[in-house]
Amino acid sequence: MYKLAVFGNPIEHSLSPDIHAQFAQQTGVKVNYQKILAPVDGFEKTAQQFIADGANGFNITVPFKLTAFNFATKLTLNAKTAKAVNTIKVENNQIIGENTDGIGLVNDLIKNLGIELKDKVILVLGAGGAAQGILLPLLKQNPKRVMIANRTANKAQQLQADFSEYGPTCGFGLNKIKHDPVDIIINATSASLDGKMPDIANGCARGAICYDLMYGKQTAFMQWAEANQAAMIVDGLGMLVEQAACSFEFWTNKKPNTQAVIKNLRR
Ligand code: NDP
Repeated sequence: MYKLAVFGNPIEHSLSPDIHAQFAQQTGVKVNYQKILAPVDGFEKTAQQFIADGANGFNITVPFKLTAFNFATKLTLNAKTAKAVNTIKVENNQIIGENTDGIGLVNDLIKNLGIELKDKVILVLGAGGAAQGILLPLLKQNPKRVMIANRTANKAQQLQADFSEYGPTCGFGLNKIKHDPVDIIINATSASLDGKMPDIANGCARGAICYDLMYGKQTAFMQWAEANQAAMIVDGLGMLVEQAACSFEFWTNKKPNTQAVIKNLRR
């Protein structure tokens, strides 16, 4: 029996226990996956107790991904470049920190949606934790260029400096986005949480694949994409399931069937 959990605050809304229960059923792996509400200033103590109780691993969501990064005793390259940890595996007295958000996005784009990333021009909106987590997996697919645009321009410039060794990137303010169409636009801002659309040139959406990391409703970004002739409009539910599948495989070495789970959740 794998002893697993997701830590967050708040945590009630989390779909992770449901997703992992479906993975467990499919693969025949026995899993006990709980939701754990950690106090905002008490992640380490709660996590230490869970490990002492025999945990095999856990997921980490808002607001603890950075705390989990510092808590881990060993980090994967994804976690190091993301500077955030969403998955921990406890093994041989090590607390191994991984970040599966970006691989989850790439798997959703390539496997589920059939979108080729090689030689594509990708525009990432936002330079927060989510953007930082997706850049390395995107760049590993050899796109023509990844452009990072953020409301606070210097954060996008910093990401350009941090990631340029992994592939062609550029970073600038949202106001520098041109009307020229791009291949793929990924909304990695949190504007959708407030029902807002980042203030950008409309022309870049024409014929583009527009992907919002947020899920659960039609967002302002998705409405904007529709109004500006995007070719395809997608929310982040597939990414959520794919990142969970990567965590599940990291813990159990079993690869679940994600498409069945995405279908169930959409229903
Ligand atoms: P952060 O708080 O770390 O970053 C927020 C980013 O959004 C910053 O770049 C900020 O710009 C920008 N921003 C916020 N409001 C606006 C606005 N009104 N206009 C323009 N830019 C804005 O958040 P995260 O990176 O952690 O999360 C971003 C999104 O990704 C959330 O919606 C989250 O739910 C989603 N997510 C989805 C996942 C999935 O599995 N589907 C996984 C992880 C995240 P500035 O720097 O100028 O403040």
